[in-house]
Amino acid sequence: MIQEIYKSVVDRDPNQPEFHQAVEEVFDSLAVVLEKRPKYRKFKILERIAEPERVIQFRVPWVDDSGEIHVNRGFRIEMNSAIGPYKGGLRFHPSVNLSILKFLAFEQVFKNSLTTLPIGGGKGGSDFDPKGKSDDEVMKFCQSFMMELFRHIGPNTDVPAGDIGVGGREIGYLFGMYKKLRNEFTGVLTGKGKNWGGSNIRPEATGYGQVYFAKEMLKTRNDSFQGKICLVSGSGNVAQYASEKVIELGGKVVTVSDSGGYIYDEAGIGTDKLNYIMELKNVKRGRISEYADKYSTAVYTPVDASLGYNPLWNHKADVALPSATQNEINKTDADHLVKNGVYCVSEGANMPTTKDGVDLFLDAGILYGPGKAANAGGVATSGLEMSQNSLRLSWTRKEVDDRLHDIMVNIHDASLSASKEFGMPGNYVAGANIAGFMKIADSMIDHGCV
Ligand code: NDP
Repeated sequence: MIQEIYKSVVDRDPNQPEFHQAVEEVFDSLAVVLEKRPKYRKFKILERIAEPERVIQFRVPWVDDSGEIHVNRGFRIEMNSAIGPYKGGLRFHPSVNLSILKFLAFEQVFKNSLTTLPIGGGKGGSDFDPKGKSDDEVMKFCQSFMMELFRHIGPNTDVPAGDIGVGGREIGYLFGMYKKLRNEFTGVLTGKGKNWGGSNIRPEATGYGQVYFAKEMLKTRNDSFQGKICLVSGSGNVAQYASEKVIELGGKVVTVSDSGGYIYDEAGIGTDKLNYIMELKNVKRGRISEYADKYSTAVYTPVDASLGYNPLWNHKADVALPSATQNEINKTDADHLVKNGVYCVSEGANMPTTKDGVDLFLDAGILYGPGKAANAGGVATSGLEMSQNSLRLSWTRKEVDDRLHDIMVNIHDASLSASKEFGMPGNYVAGANIAGFMKIADSMIDHGCV
């Protein structure tokens, strides 16, 4: 019966493979729940949860520095508001399309539920590529994007944040235009600058949370990060702060990457080298290959799509922290990881592992924390930013970090205990899907057929 519902999702939008992948993974975990709680069938929860409440698509015209006009596409998927206003990031990347945003919005619904905060799920973005654009061009694009988006969002309706290609700079330009158009100063976006309503620890939150989640998984085996060799992918927001936390906990990061390739630094990326990466990526907006020019201990390997696997995942290590993008670990990569001794994978990126890769991790019995649970620290801290904005208060770094840590411990424990309750102990994929799902499903039933 679940297969039939899944088939109808695929038939309805046959050209959305990433969305199908995300739905299939969740549905697979829910068969056992539907058996125990038939009311979810009666109220057609699966059919409803896989259909966005609203999909917004719009034109984003803007003028570059040479005076030429460009036209991009803007999107916002308002997926589910059963437990709170839509919440989820904006992604600016040339690959952005409806399939990718619907998968991200769908994942976000369960993730937000897991945080225990009252936030629904959404996602948005554009096929605009900020890479190589001047600050002025990025500003003009963001302003044009917000000139349409502003009518669909609001602090009690839909509260976007950052994602790939959308960091502090973009959130600033978006917020500025929203404020001008609405003539109000509200917490309509999260990831704001600290001078104008941003929360301490929000930039760090996803990466820190991902490592806190891994720490909890390791703890179940009386283990810790001390002395562990870690493979990190990406070199953006999530990768940078995951690396920072690993270093703080006594681990050794030996890889980081960008879309051009990766560096392997056997000596380890310590604090000084990480500061260099942050400057390179956040200020100079350079390429990770430059790291190998600066540090002779590092080897740079450019991407080679013809390989069919990513050599970054083929080094001896203990822990893997994928923090770049979806489907960056395929079955071959998963196999390489396990064969190289990796026994803990905590996902900072959303859906970085293909379905057969996930199955391989589960069969191998390693500690595997899916993105939905392991990277929920970002949105959780966005939720804390919303609370601070509503209270007109600002909590200290320690206060926010302590709350983030508690939330990650709770997400870990809730996922683990759901996995046990439903007969799949240690399967964090099933545990996270089930724990996230039930609160949403029960709320949808409470609200009637809407
Ligand atoms: P950033 O834009 O800051 O960094 C993204 C990094 O991933 C960059 O190094 C980028 O390289 C690399 N990358 C992006 N696309 C690809 C690709 N197709 N192939 C190879 N490398 C790629 O984004 P974030 O760090 O914010 O996001 C990373 C992941 O974490 C995403 O999956 C995002 O959805 C997820 N996430 C982020 C949250 C947040 O709070 N920011 C919250 C929860 C999840 P390059 O610079 O060359 O493009």
